[in-house]
Amino acid sequence: MSTKEIQRKVVILGSGPAGLTAAIYAGRAQLAPLVIDGPQPGGQLTITTDVENYPGFAKGIMGPELMTEFRAQAERFGTEFLNIWIDKVDLSQRPFTLYGKSSEDSGEITTIVKADTLIVSTGASAKWLGIPGEAPVPEGLGGNGVSACATCDGFFFRGKNVVVAGGGDTAMEEATFLTRFASKVTVVHRRDSLRASRIMQDRALANEKIEFLWNTEIKEILGTKETGVTGIRIFNNQTKEESVFPCEGVFVAIGHEPNTKLFKGVLDMNDVGYIKTEGRTMKTNIEGVFACGDAQDFYYRQAITAAGTGCMAAIDAERFLAEHETGQDSAQHA
Ligand code: NAP
Repeated sequence: MSTKEIQRKVVILGSGPAGLTAAIYAGRAQLAPLVIDGPQPGGQLTITTDVENYPGFAKGIMGPELMTEFRAQAERFGTEFLNIWIDKVDLSQRPFTLYGKSSEDSGEITTIVKADTLIVSTGASAKWLGIPGEAPVPEGLGGNGVSACATCDGFFFRGKNVVVAGGGDTAMEEATFLTRFASKVTVVHRRDSLRASRIMQDRALANEKIEFLWNTEIKEILGTKETGVTGIRIFNNQTKEESVFPCEGVFVAIGHEPNTKLFKGVLDMNDVGYIKTEGRTMKTNIEGVFACGDAQDFYYRQAITAAGTGCMAAIDAERFLAEHETGQDSAQHA
């Protein structure tokens, strides 16, 4: 086993729209950022199909292609990428230290990354039911009738009969949004009462296009590669009856999980793990550490808003470095 040590002025953890936008800005500010890819380089957009709401692409763009463009743009301005899994961080003093491991032909390598500033853009992951038929194509129907994002994919379900799994605010929001496109939306919830806030519940319950299946668990998503989703196998946990409910789309809306476990107890977070930032900035409770994108934003959760906060985090980091290196304000951004 050998050890490799790297030091950079700006280290960005995560390579979705937030992290890569931070890299573009830090790169253009001559800070030669290092982006550490997580387990899903490119983030959640790499598992979506058409992205039609990202400005600048009038005809839409495929999610993976959009992230390839982000990456190329970051590389163009001197961003370096490192693909390792960071399993430990020490933010008690600057430079901050990140510990990662990777395997190469020569054996296991421990990489120690020293960071003058750290931008946390580790994103969030949609929670899944973990049932047959749900996995992404080609194993399952994920991306072929199964989605976890109505804003991204609702448009493809015009005139269709869709199901939303969950009983929280996300499920009510997704169900209500989907009524713009779908002919019918059925919320399938495992209990007989909703967890969602009163206002979101009332809105969904009053919507004529939304129906509810209570005390119902989804056991399997049915369909094939050719047909897409044709139905769900459901189980009523009161009557213990199992049946098939026909539908053409399934939206899993049982919440998101910010990928912030690495920083638990170190960075201030809300009670479900989203990193808290200060006022209008992307500053965390530790000076020199910034957070952006879905690791920090539980409210908007869009690629464009993640990119916006990535830009803000890079500007905050640049100003922090300028103040700490020269005691002066940084240059204006063009
Ligand atoms: P949530 O409040 O944790 O609700 C998750 C829902 O999914 C619950 O109804 C839960 O059922 C169900 N669920 C969880 N795991 C499941 C499983 N394995 N199988 C079946 N059902 C499962 O999550 P959320 O709705 O994403 O909301 C998270 C936070 O974001 C909340 O604080 C919410 O207020 C906020 N939020 C706000 C807005 C808004 O204000 N516009 C929009 C979205 C989210 P049980 O009820 O049985 O536990």
